[in-house]
Amino acid sequence: MHAVVLGAGIIGCATAWRLAQAGVRVTVLERTLPGAEASSAAAGILGAQTENDGPGPLLDLSLASRALWPRFAHDLQASSGIDVQHLAHGVLEVEWQHPEGGDLLPARAAWMQALGLRAELLDAAQVHAMGARVHRLMKRWLWLPDDGQVDPRLVMQALVTALARLHVDIRTNAAVKGLELAQGRVTGVRLAGEVVNADAVVVATGAWTDLLGDLPARRTTVQPLHGQVVLLDCGAPPCLPTLMLRAGLDQAPLVYLVPRADGRVLLGATSDDQGFTKSATVRGLMDLLSQARAMLPELADARVLDHWSGLRPRSGDGLPLLGAHREVEGLIFATGHHRNGILLTPISADVTVNAVLGLRQRVDLTPFLP
Ligand SMILES: Cc1cc2nc3c(=O)[nH]c(=O)nc-3n(C[C@H](O)[C@H](O)[C@H](O)COP(=O)(O)OP(=O)(O)OC[C@H]3O[C@@H](n4cnc5c(N)ncnc54)[C@H](O)[C@@H]3O)c2cc1C
Repeated sequence: MHAVVLGAGIIGCATAWRLAQAGVRVTVLERTLPGAEASSAAAGILGAQTENDGPGPLLDLSLASRALWPRFAHDLQASSGIDVQHLAHGVLEVEWQHPEGGDLLPARAAWMQALGLRAELLDAAQVHAMGARVHRLMKRWLWLPDDGQVDPRLVMQALVTALARLHVDIRTNAAVKGLELAQGRVTGVRLAGEVVNADAVVVATGAWTDLLGDLPARRTTVQPLHGQVVLLDCGAPPCLPTLMLRAGLDQAPLVYLVPRADGRVLLGATSDDQGFTKSATVRGLMDLLSQARAMLPELADARVLDHWSGLRPRSGDGLPLLGAHREVEGLIFATGHHRNGILLTPISADVTVNAVLGLRQRVDLTPFLP
């Protein structure tokens, strides 16, 4: 069995690693360099609860993947020698005073508690006792102790190291143009002037998926959604858990702050539809910095260490495309993870390996099938 994985982001590399561990011969084809795109731009929040608005298949998949992360991080360290800084520090959601503010956090706490998930509304004294700052305009707090974080750049380094140790061929500067198809199955992929034969092809091309040639009809589209983040040195970090700041009735967070173990803090993230243009914008950076500063005035003195941007692979219906294509044998999708590809990496790799090997799935993939 020779499996060819298209794309060396976190999804493609994690899948290739698990496939190689299962004894499959794997080739990874990457247009540029491993981790050059969304996977190195991400903040790394494992926000199974904070990223969901209620019960449904995405919540179930998110919780299943969050539960796999400790083992995944442990195995990856054993295979690569790299600690990916998996921290189950929790996420503190903060509702900001807003003229149109409603009962967003109590409502969120209620649906989570009804499902038996840990979620606790805190008062200012409890938040202060946790080591987080309390500001005049902060109205409510929701503590989600089971969400966490990893450092996605360390995960990418670890995956590339683990793949090298398993002698997996990662071909860089290898842009795939399209698929080779014969009698209802995929037989390989086409690069400029070359065909690579395969028994199975895994499409893990992130935001660029819909640009691949010869793909059969799929459940939904995958489009790029631009996001940018800023890396700050605050001296002492302003918070211990990840802070997710929300305002008004809007479910989407305004900004979030992710403290790393070494004291640096990641401030994210913008969301802009600007096609495949990846560069950061002045407006995006100013919005991010001014919103964060308005909420946490002490950030004004933080040092800006770096800033970057990436393209989230946003699917048309908000769910990733996972599993074998119903019409083309040997063609498996693992793409469209939008805001949660880091969180969803362990489960995506598992179900993709099962799809390649024709094994029974532990989760119901029906809503995610391509
Ligand atoms: C600013 C920002 C913050 C984020 N924060 C979080 C977060 O906190 N938590 C979380 O879970 N997720 C987060 N995400 C989302 C997460 O980064 C993505 O969902 C995830 O990285 C997707 O991984 P991927 O491997 O599918 O895509 P990518 O990392 O984009 O990899 C796809 C790869 O495919 C390659 N490729 C494309 N076309 C071809 C081709 N034709 N031939 C060969 N190779 C090809 C590309 O070059 C690329 O390397 C964030 C994203 C952004 C942009």
